[in-house]
Amino acid sequence: MTMQIVKPVQYQSVNPATGEVLKKFQSLTDEELGARIATAEECFATWRNKSYAERAVIVAKAAELLHAQAAEFAHTMTLEMGKRIGEALGEVEFSSDILSYYARNAERFLAPVKLHPSLGEGHMESSPIGVIFCVEPWNFPYYQLARVAGPHLMAGNVVLVKHAGIVPQCAIAFEKLWMDAGAPAGLYTNLLISHEQSDHLIEDPRVKGVALTGSVAAGRSIAARAGQNLKPSSMELGGSDAFIVLEDADLEHTMKWAVWGRMYNTGQTCCAAKRFIVVDQVADKFLEKFKAALGSLEAGDPLDEKTTLGPLSTESALVDLLKQVDVAVSHGAKVVMGGKRVDRAGSFMQPTILTDVRPDNPAFRNEFFGPVAMFFRVKDEDEAIALANDSDFGLGGSVFTRDIERGKRVASRVDTGMMFINNISWSDAELPFGGIKNSGYGRELGDMGIQEFVNKKLVRYAPLEAPV
Ligand code: NAP
Repeated sequence: MTMQIVKPVQYQSVNPATGEVLKKFQSLTDEELGARIATAEECFATWRNKSYAERAVIVAKAAELLHAQAAEFAHTMTLEMGKRIGEALGEVEFSSDILSYYARNAERFLAPVKLHPSLGEGHMESSPIGVIFCVEPWNFPYYQLARVAGPHLMAGNVVLVKHAGIVPQCAIAFEKLWMDAGAPAGLYTNLLISHEQSDHLIEDPRVKGVALTGSVAAGRSIAARAGQNLKPSSMELGGSDAFIVLEDADLEHTMKWAVWGRMYNTGQTCCAAKRFIVVDQVADKFLEKFKAALGSLEAGDPLDEKTTLGPLSTESALVDLLKQVDVAVSHGAKVVMGGKRVDRAGSFMQPTILTDVRPDNPAFRNEFFGPVAMFFRVKDEDEAIALANDSDFGLGGSVFTRDIERGKRVASRVDTGMMFINNISWSDAELPFGGIKNSGYGRELGDMGIQEFVNKKLVRYAPLEAPV
């Protein structure tokens, strides 16, 4: 009798609105992984020599197909991780815009830059470095992929992507998109692999750079391994963005963004507004309106466009978040609304507001990855800034005031990678995205993002006369 080798099933697609297991996928064997790395490396050898115009044909085609098939892509996302269908469609269109933007603009970002040395002439040129390994989270199943694929493929690199274990259908659909767009084998490769295989991949000499978007714990592990192997890495990690409301804010406008900022994607966004820091003068009014607005949201099927509150991505995400609230309460926090799971099938949580979260409460330094807002009352602008900066994270943040110049002054004093005035932290195809402190390092998107994995090479041409 011959022994059959059973490959472990690691990737599982579950509908969080119902708990139904949709599909299971086998992860790659080490041999299969090795073959994919080899194909990616082979692809790089030709892709690196393509002109920007040639690369743009494939990347623009992927953008076009994504737009044309937006409904199917969005439907898969909603089924697999629970994003409300309207938001899912918005994400697919945004992902298409990102690909299209880099197809059109990569050459401009990476054009040689003339230098003016004291002797002779010179320039900096940008060349691709090879196979880039990207580890991505489930909360934006396509945007995260477009954010690495658009810039890095246009720069002439090729990508190997390990997507989150809970979104295999999205991961596979996005890989198929590239095949349908006519990409050569190895240009964009989805890998259903374990953390251990991911470690080996980072060590593999054929991999030249590592990009992670994920939690701080994943960042510590992956950045350390990249560092040991002297590979460049970019880390897009968690956040606990401050949402500062000054006494001169337009409260109607502010409230719209407060709800959006905390509740978009059921609160599962790295740069979501998580700490609401409101100046005393308007604090009561703000809290009252905020409670009313969050209280009006109703759990329902995320495929139904009328639903205003979607589920969390998994049952375990819900259980962990409820535990986090319990820990906060056991250390003195007060629940002014919510705090419990919604009484229905699926991983739904009530919109929740916590007050009285003191610096010695573990919640004060934690990220709540779901519909839980921490509310802080402060004396004035200075106290708001000090509290905003008293965080281990430094991703984004926002300030609401009718006085834009005042908003700019506050923005300059908050220690984060991004600040937004009269708006929430957000991403645009052309703007760099990223943070400082435990929120990571490096940037994705924009001029800075596309430069993360290119060789910035100095070329200097000396005059022909011999030195004196
Ligand atoms: P996570 O557990 O760190 O997972 C993110 C990705 O990393 C997944 O693909 C995961 O794979 C993988 N991973 C985790 N540990 C790993 C390890 N030791 N070795 C190799 N791969 C590993 O993060 P999450 O909880 O799903 O996602 C939410 C976090 O991401 C939040 O903290 C959020 O703020 C952050 N985030 C940041 C940004 C940003 O741009 N700054 C954007 C979105 C999300 P498995 O799923 O197979 O474990």
